[in-house]
Amino acid sequence: MALQNLKDFHRPDAIEDVLALLGKDEETLILAGGTFLRGLEARGLLSGVEALVDIRRVGLDKVVADNNGIKAGAAVTFTRLRGVVARQQEAWLGGLADALDRPPVQVRNVATVGGCIAAACPFFDVPTALLALDAELTIRSSDGERHLPLPELFDGLFANTLEPGEFITEVSLPRPPGNAAGAFLKLEATANDLAIVNVATQLSIDANRVCTRACVALGGGVADTAVRSAAAETILVGSRLDAAALQAAGEAVISDIDPMSDHRASAAYRRAVAKVMTRRALERAVARLA
Ligand SMILES: Cc1cc2nc3c(=O)[nH]c(=O)nc-3n(C[C@H](O)[C@H](O)[C@H](O)COP(=O)(O)OP(=O)(O)OC[C@H]3O[C@@H](n4cnc5c(N)ncnc54)[C@H](O)[C@@H]3O)c2cc1C
Repeated sequence: MALQNLKDFHRPDAIEDVLALLGKDEETLILAGGTFLRGLEARGLLSGVEALVDIRRVGLDKVVADNNGIKAGAAVTFTRLRGVVARQQEAWLGGLADALDRPPVQVRNVATVGGCIAAACPFFDVPTALLALDAELTIRSSDGERHLPLPELFDGLFANTLEPGEFITEVSLPRPPGNAAGAFLKLEATANDLAIVNVATQLSIDANRVCTRACVALGGGVADTAVRSAAAETILVGSRLDAAALQAAGEAVISDIDPMSDHRASAAYRRAVAKVMTRRALERAVARLA
């Protein structure tokens, strides 16, 4: 039986109370939207948990959007963030908007920004989009606060690098420089299924329409975690983002992925579609550039 050692359920009202509970001598699990507890349970990852700490009342549900970018509290839901993104009407947020639209609405209404990344599930969509946006995390513990680039949170399949007593309080998305746009694409076997492959792209160009910044992120079982493709990004920066450059970048992602074979798709299939989907996601981002 899962959660067979669960003894306590806490609903603190302040971050300090969360920290005090995490410091207690029992195995404690942060609860945010709660939508992935079943997924973790099914994989046998919750058997030692003795207490749940619900962080939805501690003031981490605010989003600030300004000229520097977006800062979202860890307990902000996908629906809330999607609303803020929609109001910005900015092309650089196009990929995030596309990714936030993918989970079913019942999930979007409760799933949180912090929960989707802490779960370290390579098949989720929103973390891939956040990876392409150079997301930075704020992490709290009783020792204070530290900041972590999102790639450094991932530590393999369903594993993150948070130390005992730590939890994520905020996700920051810096506004990219210049004329920027993003896109996200997902391939799934059936509607509402998790991704076979997903791709998020972010591009910036200068006044001569030369690419000054490129981010290409892939998820959906292309590796144990969502990954960035430095090889594709290197090809794109300095190019005019013409068809040849986008094609070459698509081909290049192969050197940065190590796909798995599972019930959704073989590694060979993931490798083949990752190339095509990267090119298409880049084409979509280019079309959104002003
Ligand atoms: C039916 C269904 C369909 C789905 N479809 C999609 C889809 O199409 N695309 C997609 O991207 N995702 C999909 N998902 C997955 C969904 O995105 C995740 O379940 C969700 O993002 C997890 O967030 P949560 O807030 O519910 O986390 P929880 O379930 O509360 O927690 C998940 C994990 O993160 C930890 N955690 C949570 N918050 C923090 C924090 N602030 N600091 C540290 N650790 C924390 C928890 O301890 C737990 O280990 C689907 C899920 C379901 C149930």
